[in-house]
Amino acid sequence: MQGRIIKGIAGFYYVISVVEFTVYECKAKGIFRKDKVKPLVGDMVEFDVLDAQEMKGNITDILPRKNQLIRPAVANIDQALVVFAVAKPKPHFNLLDRFLVMMERCDVPVVICFNKQDIAGMTEIEALQEVYAGCGYKLIFTSALLGENIQKIKAVLRGKTTVVAGPSGVGKSSLINCLQEAVSMETGSISDKIERGRHTTRHSELILVEDNSYIMDTPGFSSLYTNDFDKEDLKYYFPEFRIYEGQCRFNGCSHVKEPGCAVKEALELGKIHPVRYENYLEMYRELEEKEKRRY
Ligand code: GDP
Ligand code: ZN
Repeated sequence: MQGRIIKGIAGFYYVISVVEFTVYECKAKGIFRKDKVKPLVGDMVEFDVLDAQEMKGNITDILPRKNQLIRPAVANIDQALVVFAVAKPKPHFNLLDRFLVMMERCDVPVVICFNKQDIAGMTEIEALQEVYAGCGYKLIFTSALLGENIQKIKAVLRGKTTVVAGPSGVGKSSLINCLQEAVSMETGSISDKIERGRHTTRHSELILVEDNSYIMDTPGFSSLYTNDFDKEDLKYYFPEFRIYEGQCRFNGCSHVKEPGCAVKEALELGKIHPVRYENYLEMYRELEEKEKRRY
């Protein structure tokens, strides 16, 4: 049988069959020795049914991964949905930009959701659009409280596996509840099985929100950023900088203090948002500091 690992706890893997959409409790005997890979949540696997009554099985093979994230540990991710609030709490741009950098690093497309649009004015919404639509990210404004634009979120999630992340207090749980409500009505028995133990554990797991659409809730947003790359690479993770690549006076321009820099020129002309550029500088300096400490 073929299935997908939706949860892993203490040597057990919960595998949802791609045919019946039922969940089997599996071990992975033999896999470790054979491939030396540890099964990950999100993995597509082959498994044998050992007990059809008790829904127990054994994973025999892990299919090739499309990609894999370290934090959160998950395989075969299509995209990330990052949730912030329009207000209360005010969006923390620096934190958001750090998350965007991490996702750019592993080539995972990001959709930004600004929740609590019900308490925002037009000026706040326009300001957010200016910063983030300007650098090419898809933005969705929602209200989990009033159920506004939940369909837009669903459309983005459809048929995909999405990591959902965001700082606390922005309405991430409320939003996920909105998305799950529909599932429990449509496919009660399936989600009951998946639901089992959901709130008693902090292990990462995939949640089915629609046929073939999964989300993975990631706790601990601020720990997702890691300073483990070269400062020279940072500029590639700002998509709006990329079009200026090769236009600066100096080859390998870091866009920090070199004269004749096309990125800084674009900043002066208002084509690059100062908030983004400042966050670039801050992250760049941190990476520089870290390098200095190493030598
Ligand atoms: P989480 O920490 O990100 O999971 O946020 P919660 O879902 O627990 O929500 C935090 C608070 O914001 C709660 O008091 C919610 O009632 C409130 N909240 C969530 N979504 C909205 C929204 O769309 N509009 C407003 N006004 N409040 C919301
Ligand atoms: Zn430059």
